[in-house]
Formats: sequence, C-alpha cells, structure tokens
Amino acid sequence: MAGECGGRNESTIENLLARARRDLSSALGLQSVEARIEAQALLRHALGDVSGAYLIAHESETVSAEQHSLFESMLERRLKGEPIAYILGKREFYGIDFRVSPDVLVPRPETELLVDLALERIPEKGSFRVLDLGTGSGIVAVSIARHRKNALVTAVDKSSRALQVARDNGKDLANIRFVESDWFESLVGEHFDLIVSNPPYIAEGDGHLKDLKFEPICALSSGPDGLDSIRKIIEDAPGYLEPGGWLLFEHGFDQGASCRMLLSKKFADTGSWRDISGIERVSGGRRLT
Ligand code: GLN
Repeated sequence: MAGECGGRNESTIENLLARARRDLSSALGLQSVEARIEAQALLRHALGDVSGAYLIAHESETVSAEQHSLFESMLERRLKGEPIAYILGKREFYGIDFRVSPDVLVPRPETELLVDLALERIPEKGSFRVLDLGTGSGIVAVSIARHRKNALVTAVDKSSRALQVARDNGKDLANIRFVESDWFESLVGEHFDLIVSNPPYIAEGDGHLKDLKFEPICALSSGPDGLDSIRKIIEDAPGYLEPGGWLLFEHGFDQGASCRMLLSKKFADTGSWRDISGIERVSGGRRLT
C-alpha cells in the first residue's frame, strides 16, 4: 500500500492523510471515521482551506515544504490533546462557522438546545430585548440575533479577550451589542424580555476537568458544587427581567433537580429540557409578575 511504504519525503496528500489517521487513532483513541475527518480537516486548513473534494482530486500530488511543516505542527498540537477547534480557529454551531480561540470554550452541540428554546420564545416581529450572560465566543447571542433580526441582543462577558472573539463573530449583525460586565454588574437599570446563559457549572475538583485543560477554567467551573454562577444568575435575574420574561440557562447532566429547586423560589412555570442525548441540559422559568 502506498501509505505503508511512503518514505519521509513522500509528502503526497494520500500519504500525509494515511499517516495522520494512524497517529490520531493511536494517540487519541479516535475511531477510524473520526480520525479520517480530523486528518482531512487539518490538511484542508494547512493547504489554505481547500475543499474535501480537492484532497480527493489531488491525492497523489506532493504538498509544498511550507504546507507540509504547517500540517505537521498542527498535527503535533492535536496529538497532544489540544481541541481541533483551537487549531483550526473555528467550530460550527447552529449551522454557522464561529471563530474560536483558547480564550473561549469550544462550542458544544448540546448548547443548540438553549438557542432552540430561546427562539421558541422570541416573536418574529416587534421589539424584543435579549440578554446573554457570559457570552464567551458569542455563539448563543449571535445565533439568536441572526434568526431574530427584530430582537436586540445584549451579549456580556467579564473577559475582554472573550468579548473580542464574540465581537468578531457578530460583526455582520446590527442587532447585537457587546458589553464587558461581570454578570449583571454593568447593566444596572436595564430590563430584558428574555435572559439566556451558558455559565460555568462544573464542580471544582471534578475529575472531568482534567480532560478540559486547554479550555479557560473560569468558563467551566464554579464553586464546590458547580452551582455558584447559576445561584447568582437566579438571584439577580428577576431585577433585570420584564414581568413574565423567561430565564433559560444550561447546566450539568445531574443538576436539573437542584436548578428547578433554586428557580422555584423566584420563578413560575419552571422546568428542565433534555438535549440530543436525552440529558436534562437547560432549565428555566418566568419571572413572577
Ligand atoms: N458542557 C461542558 C462540559 O461539561 C461544560 C460547559 C460549561 O461549563 N458551560 O464539558
């Protein structure tokens, strides 16, 4: 097989992909389909964002020395466990390509549930104010703003570096504004019709955090039971919501009951919703009038 006997200087597209697939499978335990997808994504990027069809059509061609070394350095980072989204600088979410960097969380597919639930509650006409707390890369705020041009979305984060990424992701939209704010701190006196958030919710010291070591810890973990940020949001949100307005937030797989309990003191119609894996992932309620 060409891939098996390819020497070091045989940097054809086919050989590079075959070796990268083997390395990705053995170093990260990726299944063969996943290893193929990642190898192709890295090489497409190294070749200047060419299409998947380009790789197939040119598989016996040799890449330039510069492209080869760029590919090797990206592969090296991935083999050490860095998320591929950081290496490529982008990740798809809600059908849109978002820029991401190590200053923000890698977008997760389960967060699309939060966008779905928000959109169900935002009319397609008329003014409507949405607040996204801890926007990070801006995926939730930007997805909402794109689908509801009539809504004005305010996206806040306490990290100015995260906000730079979010601003870039929202640069084509006129109905979104970005504010540097530690939760509600810079929003005193403002009121919203809907508040959404994907806050940090993993418990400090949770073993799961070691698998997430490339991502910003302040976006992941919050207090001994992981609920510190959620408690703060539930506590303060009624003061910033219009009567009857919804609060919706993402949480961990085992936090649904605790979140409903916290919500029940200040909110009506409280509930939890399951993500694509059947896990309670978002909880919320409406401000009591
Ligand atoms: N869903 C992420 C995880 O458990 C955590 C995201 C968050 O804390 N908001 O990997």
